[in-house]
Order: sequence, then C-alpha cells, then structure tokens
Amino acid sequence: MKQICKKCLLIGHGRHGFFSGNVYIAFSQIALGVALIAINIDRLSGPELIIHILAALSIVVGVLNLLDSRKPGRICPRCNKAEMIVIETQEGQKFIKENNISLPQ
Ligand SMILES: [Zn+2]
Repeated sequence: MKQICKKCLLIGHGRHGFFSGNVYIAFSQIALGVALIAINIDRLSGPELIIHILAALSIVVGVLNLLDSRKPGRICPRCNKAEMIVIETQEGQKFIKENNISLPQ
C-alpha cells in the first residue's frame, strides 16, 4: 500500500509517531492496565477506585494504539510532516489528479 506525502510529494511508506501505532507501547499500556486491576481487584471502592479508572483508560488507549498500528503511518520519512496519504484511496487519487503527479510503475 503505497503512500504519497502531500507536503514534499515523496512516494513511499509513512511511519507512526512514538506514541501512536507502536505495538510495544500498546502492549505495555494493556499489560499495565491489567496488572493494576489485578493488584487492586479486592479494593473496588474508596480512593482506590481511581486506580481502576486509570487502569481501564490505559487498556482503552492501548487497544486504540494497537488498532492504529494496523493502519499505515501518516508521518513522512523525509519531511516529518503528518501528511502521508494512501495513493489507492479516493483522497489519494484526487490529490494525484489535482497535482498532475505521474506515478512510477
Ligand atoms: Zn514529506
């Protein structure tokens, strides 16, 4: 799935930022959440409840991160702008046509 940068017109593959779409960070966030819940499972009321809320949030963010890692990154490896779009999409085709870009086959 090739992408093109809307800023510098580089054709290639975008990458993810450090905190988005990073599989290892995603798994760490999920593991941290599960561990926090497991440690505090017998304290479900009082001030400890905030730990469970934070743990649940950590799991949610981790899962979103994991889903994000399945999608192509948006950061251009040349100009570092988050402007990479997938060529095969409608947005990509429109951009190619509007800017008269010839694709290498
Ligand atoms: Zn670029």
